[in-house]
Amino acid sequence: MNYDLIIIGAGPAGLTAGIYARSRKLKTLILEAGNAGGQLVSLYPDKGIENYPGCVLTQAEKLAKRMITHALSMGCELHENEMALDILEKDSRLLVVTDKGSYESKAVIIAVGIGLFKPKKLGIPGEDQFENKGVYYKIPHKESLVDKRVLFVGGGNSALEMALIASEVAETYIVHRRNEFRADEGIVEKVKRSKIITILNAELEEIRGDQTVNGVTIKIGNDQRMNLDVDVVVINIGYIPDLKDIQRWNVELEDNLIRVDTAMRTSRPGVFACGDVVTYSGKYKQIITACGEAATAANSAYKYIMKPYWS
Ligand SMILES: Cc1cc2nc3c(=O)[nH]c(=O)nc-3n(C[C@H](O)[C@H](O)[C@H](O)COP(=O)(O)OP(=O)(O)OC[C@H]3O[C@@H](n4cnc5c(N)ncnc54)[C@H](O)[C@@H]3O)c2cc1C
Repeated sequence: MNYDLIIIGAGPAGLTAGIYARSRKLKTLILEAGNAGGQLVSLYPDKGIENYPGCVLTQAEKLAKRMITHALSMGCELHENEMALDILEKDSRLLVVTDKGSYESKAVIIAVGIGLFKPKKLGIPGEDQFENKGVYYKIPHKESLVDKRVLFVGGGNSALEMALIASEVAETYIVHRRNEFRADEGIVEKVKRSKIITILNAELEEIRGDQTVNGVTIKIGNDQRMNLDVDVVVINIGYIPDLKDIQRWNVELEDNLIRVDTAMRTSRPGVFACGDVVTYSGKYKQIITACGEAATAANSAYKYIMKPYWS
């Protein structure tokens, strides 16, 4: 099958690139290894987004669904559960090889975000044993937490925002290894005003249970120990990006991210990139910046393909 443009990844960046490409009538295919929506759907569906212009407060999953609907309504073809494996050269075109087939295209936009990431683990007793039996790496749906005792591990935005969601229905604790959180001031303020019990300068040492989790041991400071009865432990200490795919795609990398110029061009002709996967001086990983870069990438791809008189 032949396309003008293939976009790899259907997070905010890929979907926005699709919207802009279709406004230029480029025949556009978006490939998504999982479900469309990116991190908003896979990592924090329940979280409130407060910094996307035009939406005072919206749930992440709802914002993602609106972007998907928008991209489809513009005429993008979207293949979910299809992972891009290689970008090869074929005659004067590019050939994108996936785990289900291959497609020819005049240009490609890489928008794979943080790739197919894995959560970082603590590596403590009980963690693996109780995974999915009370130990999670993202917040389970709120309804399943009603009247439970839930302990979060981590000090960044993600852990604190998840804890705030849980605290609406559950007895909630946060354990953090430092004396202060590194989350945004606004979020830390909300935690301080909430019912959440924070345990600082502390590390989770052991997770115990029977069939499912029923308690933990926390080490506070150098030698103090505390046992706490909890039903759910949510560990949120970051993610290990699995970006090994992009290493095969013949684009220049810096710190394992794709280097782009101000037009979102990579080092490889016809291949553009945008969103969390790119790096440049001052890069700020947010939905709005991913979308902005995507608009530029789609415009650059259009100029590359169509060579309009004004480019
Ligand atoms: C907990 C948390 C909270 C956040 N809160 C906010 C917030 O409030 N406001 C804000 O602006 N930003 C927030 N962010 C950041 C924001 O989510 C990211 O900057 C944004 O999702 C980047 O979009 P993207 O499209 O570049 O990447 P992603 O959202 O990561 O999407 C990339 C997509 O590519 C797919 N993919 C990967 N590899 C392949 C492949 N080989 N083939 C096909 N598909 C592939 C993935 O499955 C994924 O769906 C938050 C991030 C986290 C972790």
